[in-house]
Amino acid sequence: MSDTSKDKNSATLGAFYARVEDGQLVMEPYCSCGNQLDEYYHCDKCNKHSRCTDILCEDQATLNLVEKYIRTSPRLRNFNAMLGKRKATED
Ligand SMILES: [Zn+2]
Repeated sequence: MSDTSKDKNSATLGAFYARVEDGQLVMEPYCSCGNQLDEYYHCDKCNKHSRCTDILCEDQATLNLVEKYIRTSPRLRNFNAMLGKRKATED
């Protein structure tokens, strides 16, 4: 079920970036421009909405955790998890 291939298109649509902090999974939505999105997935830099359904995980341990969440949480069932690093913000 998991897609671990590098998909460049996913990053152009905005995506969640996941990491593990103190054993807790932290997921933050980011725009394709690298700006962090607000709670409505709105980017104040591009002034557009991103629909984030991809979750880029910084390492394999994070990916394993995210995949477990996707399997067990109805809220996340339409999400795709994959390995990927956050783009550095360019301005
Ligand atoms: Zn943006």
